[in-house]
Amino acid sequence: MPALMSSGDPPDAKCALCERTAVGPCARCKRPVCGDCCELTEGGATTFAICLTCVKRGGNSLAPAYRGLVLWLAAIVVGLAAFAALTIALRR
Ligand SMILES: [Zn+2]
Ligand SMILES: [Zn+2]
Repeated sequence: MPALMSSGDPPDAKCALCERTAVGPCARCKRPVCGDCCELTEGGATTFAICLTCVKRGGNSLAPAYRGLVLWLAAIVVGLAAFAALTIALRR
C-alpha cells in the first residue's frame, strides 16, 4: 500500500504581531498582519492596511517621506524668494 502522506496544513503566513494567520501585508513595512493587528486607512482610491507598529511609529498616513519632500521644496522656494528680495534691495 503506497504511503500517501498528507503534507499537513499549508504554511500560512503568521501575523507579525500575534500568532494568528495573516490576512495581508502591511502597506508600509510589508510584514504580514492579521485583521486585528492593522488599521485601515484611505490612500487615494484604495484602502490600505497598516500594521499597528507602523501606526504607532508614524500615524496611519501613507506618505511621511512625501511630506518631508514638500517641506524641503518649500524651504528652497522661501530661500530663493529671500535671495531675490535681497538682490532687488541691494540694487537700489
Ligand atoms: Zn495579529
Ligand atoms: Zn507595518
